[in-house]
Amino acid sequence: MTSAPAHDASSRLLDVRRIFHEPDVEQWPRGRQVLERFPDAERVEVDSHQAIPGLHGNPGGVRDWVRTKQTTLVLGVKKSLQARPNGRSADFIAPSTSNGCAMACGYCYVPRRKGYANPITVFVNIDQVTGYLRRHVKRQGPKSEPNQCDPVDWVYDLGENGDCSVDARVSDNVRDLVDLFGDLPGAKGSFATKHVNRDLLDWDPRGGTRVRFSLMPDRVARLLDLRTSRVAERIAAVDDFVAAGYEVHLNFSPVVVHEHWQAEWRELLRQVADGVGPAARAQLACEVIFLTHHEGLHEVNLGWHPRGEELLWRPDLQEPKISHSGQANVRYRAAWKRRWVEQLRTMIAEELPGCRVRYAF
Ligand code: SF4
Repeated sequence: MTSAPAHDASSRLLDVRRIFHEPDVEQWPRGRQVLERFPDAERVEVDSHQAIPGLHGNPGGVRDWVRTKQTTLVLGVKKSLQARPNGRSADFIAPSTSNGCAMACGYCYVPRRKGYANPITVFVNIDQVTGYLRRHVKRQGPKSEPNQCDPVDWVYDLGENGDCSVDARVSDNVRDLVDLFGDLPGAKGSFATKHVNRDLLDWDPRGGTRVRFSLMPDRVARLLDLRTSRVAERIAAVDDFVAAGYEVHLNFSPVVVHEHWQAEWRELLRQVADGVGPAARAQLACEVIFLTHHEGLHEVNLGWHPRGEELLWRPDLQEPKISHSGQANVRYRAAWKRRWVEQLRTMIAEELPGCRVRYAF
């Protein structure tokens, strides 16, 4: 079987037919760039990128969950620019330059606040964001102590609310951020991704961006990581991204517990050990995050992908947990989860010796 040409693969992911946009986006070069990139798309002016009538908060929209992600974009201006302290994966969460995603992972927390549709929203005021970040980095001064985020650099998460590798197919926002951090001593941009976008290999990151490829066992990924690059493709990309000047870490997340999860994770770790070369291994680190889920998202998912919920919604293994942001989530029962976290840490030490676990929870 021959593989489909790359442009077919990317148009399956994004085939933009409609762009909802705030009235003034054409005043911004980035707004004009996106509109020109999709000249045939219908343009619908809206007052605000949030709460778009007929798109957000419309229960009927769940039937078109994936199609909306493929065919719809939103353009707006990011109003409040703020780098939030984080301390887990990054020192700070950078102000977003997008939210939403064209991929469709069943456990994705991004739509939890938006309701029934979650296409990509691009923020067009990228120059304000990069200017803000420059000033923010300068204000920090040098990092005085190493921490789990990075021994030397202040780390800024760039993709909390979406996937930067797909965003890079829509606009140059991500490229501008990669260029920025290539030029900012003492700071590093970072994003997790499940999409291999080889266009990024032609950029010049100069070590200023950390790409965290998200991995989980392939059998589970086929059920849950919908519209993403296959796990083997992500592993195969690690060496190339390191050679192109990125720092590359692994994001083992979410760990979904089921009756055979340990055997499948060991197999995945062996795939990584076999597929990643010495240069990448020398700089490799990982983070481990066990699944949390959410009743509202579970209800939405039942409307478009009920099979995934058989793995994600396990009241026999889970208990309620209020998140930092006050959301009523479920997570694996604390005592069991502690044991499972340790089991996975041990497996990582056995199969990927030298791969530092930056954090696991
Ligand atoms: S790739 Fe990330 S942002 Fe996109 S749907 Fe999956 S979890 Fe959500």
